[in-house]
Amino acid sequence: MSISKSHVGGKDSPLMQYVLNHSLREHPVLKSLRLRTMQDSWNFMMVACEQSQFMANLAKLIKAKKVLEIGVYTGYNTLNMALSLPEDGVVVACDISEEYTNIGKPFWKEAGVEHKIDLRIQPALQTLDELLSSGQAETFDFVFIDADKVNYDNYYEKSLLLLRKGGIIAIDNVLWSGRVLNPSPNDADTVAIDKLNKKLHRDIRVTLSMLTVGDGLTLAIKL
Ligand code: SAM
Ligand code: CA
Repeated sequence: MSISKSHVGGKDSPLMQYVLNHSLREHPVLKSLRLRTMQDSWNFMMVACEQSQFMANLAKLIKAKKVLEIGVYTGYNTLNMALSLPEDGVVVACDISEEYTNIGKPFWKEAGVEHKIDLRIQPALQTLDELLSSGQAETFDFVFIDADKVNYDNYYEKSLLLLRKGGIIAIDNVLWSGRVLNPSPNDADTVAIDKLNKKLHRDIRVTLSMLTVGDGLTLAIKL
């Protein structure tokens, strides 16, 4: 069971095409990166363009200057965020794969925003710890959590420390193609996502929305 992304489950849906035809405003370089990513066999990992546009709008709405992206892949959302930030804004982009991120880099350059992207190739937890120990707690405006699911709770807790009050944490894949309805104990990813969903529902440190966009997107706003 899945809600759908425009380039995966929603690809052949006339209604999804209508949504894109009537709302997608994609920077030309962003479009080129999306088309390039579609040639990669892991392209289902890419954030849906309609979801990325929504998150970039949210970042603009809260006048974000510092964004953290945990899980970059080819950097479609990283680029979208960088395009949305002011000249002195920064996206700290965390991934372990040079292979994937190297696909995105030429597009970041072509779009003229590579100076706003601080790519850190190492386990994201290490980067988050470094940000915390270098005094960057409470300085981030927006965090997108979209890397390995077993670490979701660790990413959430550290992101909450890094986020300023009123900042937003967006957590991707919270419906995990519907598997959260009946998590098998042997499926560590589903168990981790379901556990965090349950914890967030009770978490009084944030306000909450769980959206049925893409594969499920939770927005937690720090109180
Ligand atoms: N946000 C991306 C986008 O907009 O298209 C999609 C990210 S993709 C779903 C997940 C990424 O997390 C992969 O590129 C993978 O290399 C990365 N990843 C997996 N484990 C990681 C870890 N421990 N630390 C950092 N990145 C990790
Ligand atoms: Ca995702």
